Amino acid sequence: MNTQPTKGRELIDLRSDTVTRPTPAMRKAMAEAEVGDDVYGDDPTVIRLQALAADMLGTEAALFLPSGTQSNLCALLSHCQRGDEYIVGQHAHTYMYEGGGAAVFGSIQPQPLDFMPDGSLDLDQVAACIKPDDPHYAKTRLLCIENTQAGKVLPLDYFGKARALADKHALGLHLDGARIFNASVKLGVPVTDISRHFDSVSVCLSKGLCAPVGSVLCATKDIVDSARRWRKMLGGGMRQAGVLAAAGILSLTEQVQHLETDHDNAERLADALTGVPGLDVDKENVQTNMVFARVTSGSRQALMKRMADEGILVSGSRDKLRLVTHFDFKQEFIEPVVAAFSRALEAA
Ligand SMILES: *Cc1c(COP(=O)(O)O)cnc(C)c1O
Repeated sequence: MNTQPTKGRELIDLRSDTVTRPTPAMRKAMAEAEVGDDVYGDDPTVIRLQALAADMLGTEAALFLPSGTQSNLCALLSHCQRGDEYIVGQHAHTYMYEGGGAAVFGSIQPQPLDFMPDGSLDLDQVAACIKPDDPHYAKTRLLCIENTQAGKVLPLDYFGKARALADKHALGLHLDGARIFNASVKLGVPVTDISRHFDSVSVCLSKGLCAPVGSVLCATKDIVDSARRWRKMLGGGMRQAGVLAAAGILSLTEQVQHLETDHDNAERLADALTGVPGLDVDKENVQTNMVFARVTSGSRQALMKRMADEGILVSGSRDKLRLVTHFDFKQEFIEPVVAAFSRALEAA
């Protein structure tokens, strides 16, 4: 699919915040980045990004990785040994959308649990599935939480409780914080109010924060040291990665504040779509940059096709559409999107 903006009409891409392109400031910083061989630990720009990320998240250390998937995987491999178990959401990215990597590469057994309506895992259920020390069972080693979860912001008082449970049972605590800054911006709190409870936090720079590539794993020094080994084994040791890290630095220094606009646009978009016949917008769960809507007339696939013909891309599964706002989605796009939905659904 050609998703480059065309002369006549700019493509409107609501599939994901991963579609954001590097900002002009990022392009410039990338062009001018000071670099070295990062596998030797020589790249000053990667070192700067890692120090900045660790400082912002309040962790001992941080590691730059090519993707969030590899960052989560390296974290899991660092927390768990072969035959250990991690407790994770049934629809969590680490469990559902990473190709089963923890099982494939680490022989780590998942114990999936349904998410609660607010995106958290019920801690009583978590406690109930921690296995006793008995050779019949895998060793429960890690609790893995996701925030934001499908655009939902977990309540701030949840993390202390999760930490207490993890401590009680000697579990590690990992946060898939791909969109942790969406959560902190939404709550209006320092990101450390969330991150300080965890042993490791994976943060995507390449989603709403606009970097072309990359995630940072912010964690204890021990976990980062171990993750660096795993990263090398997985082929994620990058050489003059400062070219990428330069963009990542701007993600953290320039783009975080813009997430608020993405959240405002999601709310406006949800409001504007609420009157459109044939769509049932889940208004209540529009908390950050994601809008979910059920297609109530005609097929979701046919609707997506008609929208794509109008140059508007959305994603979906089963009968639900997912629309994600981001830095390259401007407020003035809302009106044409709503108009196109109305036309497309009339044709259904
Ligand atoms: C996107 C995402 C990831 C993985 O990031 P990639 O860079 O796409 O590998 C992990 N967790 C969550 C919740 C995500 O949304």
